[in-house]
Amino acid sequence: MSSWDVIVIGVGAVGSFALRAASRRGARALGIELAEPAHARGSSHGHCRIFRHAYFEHPDYVPLLRHATRGFEELERERGVQLLHRCGVLLLGKSDSTILSRSLLAALTHGLDVDDLDARDIARRFPWFASPLAERGVFEQDAGLVRPELAITNAVASARSAGAEVRLCTRALTLRADPHGVDVVTENGTERARKVVVAVGAWAATLLPELLCHLTVTRQVQAWVAPKPGGSQDGMPCWLLDLGDTSRALYGIPADPLAGTHSPARFPKVAWHGSDDVVDPDVGAMPPREQDTDPLLAAYLRAAAPLAGRIDSTATCLYTMSKDGDFLVGRSRESEHIHFAAGLSGHGFKLAPALGQALCDLALLGTTELPIGFLSPDRFANCGNKDDHA
Ligand SMILES: Cc1cc2nc3c(=O)[nH]c(=O)nc-3n(C[C@H](O)[C@H](O)[C@H](O)COP(=O)(O)OP(=O)(O)OC[C@H]3O[C@@H](n4cnc5c(N)ncnc54)[C@H](O)[C@@H]3O)c2cc1C
Repeated sequence: MSSWDVIVIGVGAVGSFALRAASRRGARALGIELAEPAHARGSSHGHCRIFRHAYFEHPDYVPLLRHATRGFEELERERGVQLLHRCGVLLLGKSDSTILSRSLLAALTHGLDVDDLDARDIARRFPWFASPLAERGVFEQDAGLVRPELAITNAVASARSAGAEVRLCTRALTLRADPHGVDVVTENGTERARKVVVAVGAWAATLLPELLCHLTVTRQVQAWVAPKPGGSQDGMPCWLLDLGDTSRALYGIPADPLAGTHSPARFPKVAWHGSDDVVDPDVGAMPPREQDTDPLLAAYLRAAAPLAGRIDSTATCLYTMSKDGDFLVGRSRESEHIHFAAGLSGHGFKLAPALGQALCDLALLGTTELPIGFLSPDRFANCGNKDDHA
């Protein structure tokens, strides 16, 4: 049986960056992935993700967000690719919106450059969103879209060129930890490592049953919508509209200027953040139906009337929700040799380089300088306890 310094299970958003970080640090690193990198059954497909820093979810993410954006930029330079498009991000809502006030607080706390806009500013600078729903806005220019498939495939290529091996179309079935390391039992045999990083996204609880009661996998529908004829999209930012609930919002991403003539991303994307549609990742999410897309288009029309023309294409994708919407990143209760990231709760892509680095640090050094303490899985009690919030 081979012996590795570290095995990264799941070569998706977080896993690809963890594998890259480990191999660049000189570790003998193996990635195990049940499909191909950037496949369309997990959580990291669909051509675009928003990245931003004035974070309403929790101000403690900001240092990690800065680290992650630098990580994407570093990969861009190394591989000669464009992963980020800084079209800006506009958050919109009522004047008492929690999303807006929390974003402004994060910006203030961390010295981020944002514009606090009233309805007249919004109508002048971003006329698509002139609606009664948008009384106030927060605009961050140093933000925009990141290209997920391109980021993952390039992180994997970078890891490989630094010496990592990757086994594709191989499912890790079980982890068997002992005092000296971990056996990873796969469909194609067993591999042994001193340390294991688990970054399997929606499948986290299948490999780490300790997470079963903490995670819920939901089906998310995204649609690419051709704007009404004649409507200019010049200067369109990414946007998110607060509808009064931080776990449910409507958001959009403008057309990607690098999208090919047949790519869905040649049109703006619109989607709900959050859903109650719970799914089993192995069964997969049912393709979008009219009962998904009709309300989505109607909401889009209310929020940004000039943009909501006809739906060009649709896709589903998976969120893995934690109980509080924050990630779980840290050590497994089962073994000091196993670390994981899970429950990325629909906002984790933009943080993948930082989470990958943190997991690599934890695996190889036993500690990390990245401030991930607030994401510790220890904030939840063991599954099976009556009150599972520690
Ligand atoms: C529609 C949608 C829109 C989103 N928008 C945003 C956004 O705008 N901004 C943002 O920051 N985030 C966004 N997110 C969230 C973000 O995309 C996810 O949080 C992130 O991609 C999850 O990364 P991951 O590494 O945990 O999972 P994945 O990238 O899915 O990787 C997990 C990998 O593990 C593999 N795997 C699973 N089980 C095994 C096994 N047993 N053995 C081997 N391999 C295994 C899978 O095949 C997969 O490749 C969005 C998500 C969705 C679905």
